[in-house]
Amino acid sequence: MRGLMQDRPLLISSLIEYANQYHGDVELVSRSVEGPIHRYTYADAYKRSKQVANALAGFGVREGDRIGTLAWNTYRHFELYYGISGMGAVLHTINPRLFPDQITYIANHAEDRFIFTDLTFVPLLEQIADKLTSVEGYVVMTDEANMPETSLPNAVCYETLIGKQSADFDWPKLDESAASSLCYTSGTTGNPKGVMYSHRSTVLHSFAVCTIDGIGMSSHEVVMPVVPMFHANAWGTIYAAAMCGAKMVFPGAGMDGPSIYQLLDEEKVSLTLAVPTVWLGLLQHLRAESNKKLPYMQRVVIGGSAAPQSMIEAFEKDYDVQVIHAWGMTEMSPLGTTGNMRAKHAGRPYDEQIAVKVKQGRALYGVDLKIVDDDGNELPRDGVAFGRLLVRGPWITNGYFKGEGGDVLDADSWFDTGDVATLDPDGYMQITDRSKDVIKSGGEWISSIDLENDAVGHPAVQEAAVIGVAHPKWDERPLLLVIKQDGADVSKEELLEYMAGKVAKWQVPDDVVFVDELPHTATGKLLKTKLRDEYEGYRLPTA
Ligand code: AMP
Repeated sequence: MRGLMQDRPLLISSLIEYANQYHGDVELVSRSVEGPIHRYTYADAYKRSKQVANALAGFGVREGDRIGTLAWNTYRHFELYYGISGMGAVLHTINPRLFPDQITYIANHAEDRFIFTDLTFVPLLEQIADKLTSVEGYVVMTDEANMPETSLPNAVCYETLIGKQSADFDWPKLDESAASSLCYTSGTTGNPKGVMYSHRSTVLHSFAVCTIDGIGMSSHEVVMPVVPMFHANAWGTIYAAAMCGAKMVFPGAGMDGPSIYQLLDEEKVSLTLAVPTVWLGLLQHLRAESNKKLPYMQRVVIGGSAAPQSMIEAFEKDYDVQVIHAWGMTEMSPLGTTGNMRAKHAGRPYDEQIAVKVKQGRALYGVDLKIVDDDGNELPRDGVAFGRLLVRGPWITNGYFKGEGGDVLDADSWFDTGDVATLDPDGYMQITDRSKDVIKSGGEWISSIDLENDAVGHPAVQEAAVIGVAHPKWDERPLLLVIKQDGADVSKEELLEYMAGKVAKWQVPDDVVFVDELPHTATGKLLKTKLRDEYEGYRLPTA
C-alpha cells in the first residue's frame, strides 16, 4: 500500500521562495568586492535571483546547461546560487585559487556556457579565455561605474544585465533529482573530478545543517560563512540560511584576521564557519590586540582539516566560544559528521570533554559510516581499531561527472572516503589520516594528523606538517616540518622532547626541519604530495 501524501519535489527554488515569504525583511550583509559594505534583504535577493533567471533565459540557457562562477562570498554570488539553479541550469562554482591550467580544464570539462566573475578574477580569465572552448560570454559582477576595460569576449556588466530584467519569473517544476550544482574536487593527483549535486540532495542536506545536533542554523542566528562559496557550497550554509531565515554576513575577499574580526564584531555574528588556517589568522589577530574579545560569537564550526586541540581550547577557554568540529567532503555535499556533545557529556570535566571535541564528531541523520580493513571486513566501533572510512547516504555522490574515475561505489553503495578513522561506542568518528598520508613504520601506522596537532600545541610553532620519509630499517619514519611563530624560537631538541611527552616513543618524529612556508592545496589543506616529492631521499639522522 502506498502512503497518501503529496509528492512535492524538493527544489532549490522553494528555499528562496520560503525566505522571501517568511523572512523577507531579514538582512544579508556583504563586504563587496568594490570595497563598501552592502546591505539588503532576502526579499531583495529573491527579486534579483529572478532577474538573474530571466537574464539567463534571454541568453538561451536551458535546463542542465552549466554556468560557471569565479566569485567570493557576496550577495551577488548568493543571487546566482538561486537564479542559476532555480531556473534549471547548473551552478558550477569554480575555485579561483586553482592554477590557470586547472581552471581551463575544469571549465572545458564542465562545458560552461557562460562565466560570471568577480572583478578580482577578470585578469585571470583574460589569460585563459582563448582556451575556454565552450564559453559564449562573461558577466562581470559589478556595476557600470566599476566595469573594467576587458579583452574578455562578449563581456557584460552584471548590474546592467539584470537591471533590464523583469523580477517576474515562474520557477520551473523540475524533477527533484535534476542536477543543480557542480563542484570539482581539488584532487592532489590527476585531474579534478566533478561532483554533481541534485535539488533533492541539496534540500535534504540543508535540513541536516539546520538541526541542532548538526550545525544548528536558525532564524535566531547571524551566520558568517568564511568557508568560500566555491568550496562545497560553503558547507551548505547558503541553502540552509534560506531554509531557516538566518541573517547572513558575507566576508567578500577579506579572509585575514582583522577583516574577519571587523565583521564578526560589527554585525554581531553568532555562528561562523571556516578551515583551521582562517581561525589561526583570527586568533593571531586577537592575541596581538589583547583588548579584543568575541562577545557575540556563540559557536565556530571548524572543518576541512583537523582542528588542533590548542585551537579548540583557545576559542573555548580564552574567548568563550563553543567549537563544533566538523568533517565532510565535496563528495558529501559536504557534511558527514559534527562534534556536538551528547547529553551525557554535560557537566563532565573539561579534560574529558576536550577528548571528545578533538574527534571529528558523530554522523548526521542521513549519513551511514563504517570502517573496514584492507579486505573490506568491518572493524569494531571501539574507538581503537582504525580502518578505511566508508560512507553512504542521499547527499553522497554516486559517481563523478561524465563517469571520471569509473565506478566509485561498492556493491552495497558504500563510497570510500580515502580517510582512515576510528569509530567509538558513542558514535564519534576520529580521522587518523588520509590513507595516502599515514606513515607506515615497521608494520605500525602513525597518524600524521596526531603529530601535527601535538606539534602546533607548542607555543613556538605556528604550523606543522608531518610526512613519512624512507627508512632502511622501519620502511618509513616521520619527519616534522615546522613554521615558527613570529619572533619565537625553539630548537629541534626542545621540540622533540616536547613531542616525546605527548605520544608513544616510537611515534616521535625522527627529525625536525624548520621552514618558512608549507605548500597548501587550493582548498587550504597541506599539500603532502609536494612535501613528499621535495623530501624524497631526505637522510634522517636515524637512518
Ligand atoms: P574536500 O573535499 O576538499 O573538502 O576534502 C575532504 C577531505 O578533507 C576529507 O576526506 C578529509 O581528509 C579532510 N577533512 C575534512 N574535514 C576534516 C576534519 N575535520 N579533520 C580532518 N580532516 C578533514
